[in-house]
Amino acid sequence: MEIEVRKLCALKKYEGDFSFDYEPPADLCLIPLCNIEGKVKVTGTYEIYEDDSVGVTLTVTYKIVGQCSYCLNPAEKAITYTTEILYVTEKDDENYYYDGIYINLKTAVDDAILISQPNVLLCKDGCTGIDVSNK
Ligand SMILES: [Zn+2]
Repeated sequence: MEIEVRKLCALKKYEGDFSFDYEPPADLCLIPLCNIEGKVKVTGTYEIYEDDSVGVTLTVTYKIVGQCSYCLNPAEKAITYTTEILYVTEKDDENYYYDGIYINLKTAVDDAILISQPNVLLCKDGCTGIDVSNK
């Protein structure tokens, strides 16, 4: 999950793409009674600029499985989320920092997974919750 910026510069590979599977930590899914199933697929492209900043387009694809937040029936949702980020070698409040040598994508990938997951997982659109009418 690393981009070896200095090495890529030496090879004059200023642009490229990457793809890997990421095993997410269990606490990365914030929805009660739900988990991320299996691994997260991470794909993206990078471009190294002249000032050593690196633009990265990152896509995470994963599936949340668990119980519907409203009715507790089994539920699942596939999520694909793309974000554009910038790595810089001088710390600021807006971008990700790296040391100019290599980038570890873990923090950005974790952030993308956190940002992209819904607040609730529903078994279907418009689930109204447990049926209490009891026919
Ligand atoms: Zn439901």
